[in-house]
Amino acid sequence: EVSELSPLVSPIFENNLRRNPGEPEFHQAMREVFESVSLAVEKHPKYADNSILERICEPERQIIFRVPWVDDHGRTQINRGFRVQFNSALGPYKGGLRFHPSVMLGTIKFLGFEQIFKNSLTGMPIGGGKGGSDFDPKGKSDAEVMRFCQSFMTELAGHIGEYTDVPAGDIGVGQREIGYLFGQYKRITNRYESGVLTGKGLGWGGSLVRTEATGYGTVFFVDEMLRSTQRDFAGKRVIVSGSGNVALFAMEKITQLGGTVVACSDSTGVVYDSDGLDIELLTHVKNVERGRLSDYAAVRGSQSEYRAGARVWDVAADTRIDVALPCATQNELNADDARTLIRSGVIAVGEGANMPCTPDATREFQQADVLFAPGKAANAGGVATSALEMQQNASRDSWSFEYTEERLAKIMRSIHDRCAETADEYGRPGDYVLGANITGFTRVADAMIALGVI
Ligand code: GLU
Repeated sequence: EVSELSPLVSPIFENNLRRNPGEPEFHQAMREVFESVSLAVEKHPKYADNSILERICEPERQIIFRVPWVDDHGRTQINRGFRVQFNSALGPYKGGLRFHPSVMLGTIKFLGFEQIFKNSLTGMPIGGGKGGSDFDPKGKSDAEVMRFCQSFMTELAGHIGEYTDVPAGDIGVGQREIGYLFGQYKRITNRYESGVLTGKGLGWGGSLVRTEATGYGTVFFVDEMLRSTQRDFAGKRVIVSGSGNVALFAMEKITQLGGTVVACSDSTGVVYDSDGLDIELLTHVKNVERGRLSDYAAVRGSQSEYRAGARVWDVAADTRIDVALPCATQNELNADDARTLIRSGVIAVGEGANMPCTPDATREFQQADVLFAPGKAANAGGVATSALEMQQNASRDSWSFEYTEERLAKIMRSIHDRCAETADEYGRPGDYVLGANITGFTRVADAMIALGVI
């Protein structure tokens, strides 16, 4: 089931489909934005008059490059590198790098497109971009990852800079990779330009709270939604998908707020502890021992059930779930999963990952009046804290954990409130998808108009 776009924007959308063949995720991301934003375009002729939708869907610059590197057996390997510099109306391009074998140009374009509106929503001076590679860090030695990162940066260095484009991490890119990338950038440019990358280590220009920020921010956003309906996390039963940094720190914050996380997942299975996961143990297994969920379950013993190859949302088929946070990857929660969660009694869903719910799943939640927080609002705390890292680098300062977390909480509250106000203004109270898309779009579009045809 696909809803009709208004006649004002539908030819622009059709043209974009034609111009970008073989990029279904980019199409999906554009369709959702067009569906929301058509209302703003109808209300304010300046957006149509200035061809904003046509311009905003075309990246300002796209870089595709060969990444040759030598593996531990002395063989030369070839991967493909990407950086899509999508929109710089609000500031230097900003967005992560994803290293995953599934990465294609269309993947990076969908992520970069989402990033424009997400970054705009934070209210901070950052444009939108994204990059990555089809390189798979899984099973590679440290030395191989280092040589790959050095080769990747050798090509990328000429295209980035603290006033130009500031990459960070995403799936497959954490502090280790950012370190190797920064080291190579420093060597090539002979500049200690801290603000060229974010997600750095604490000893070399990184910010406290950056690692926790996406997960914490997602929980802060859902907490605001719950509070707006006179509820909170206390006593709530929660499922989180994934077990990377977004998932782990979302689970930590939920626990701090009195909620119980009963299940999470990795690429090989699901762990279900009906009385709640031991988040401290889980964080230790994942981040210190670099283990898997099966290792966690083995240590936890009889309190824990490991389901190899299972789907995490199926946990909701036989236990009550109040809140679901998809924190793994795109299109990981479909309409069937949504119906399972709704039957289970879910009251709120927050997207910690980028576009984890399919359009049908989102529709199911909204039709069932489940509070639904779209990724570009709910997971904006990561990139917002990256912008705080850039601020600290620019002033050669470093802030305390408490101060930085308070700034993050304030940013998430303000994103929530502005999304809710926009939804009200457009006669769709509680529609955070509409609220996020229009609020994000408006700030970028107005800056594009002010800067002229560039
Ligand atoms: N990859 C993260 C995101 O999807 C963070 C990007 C950043 O910090 O620049 O927003």
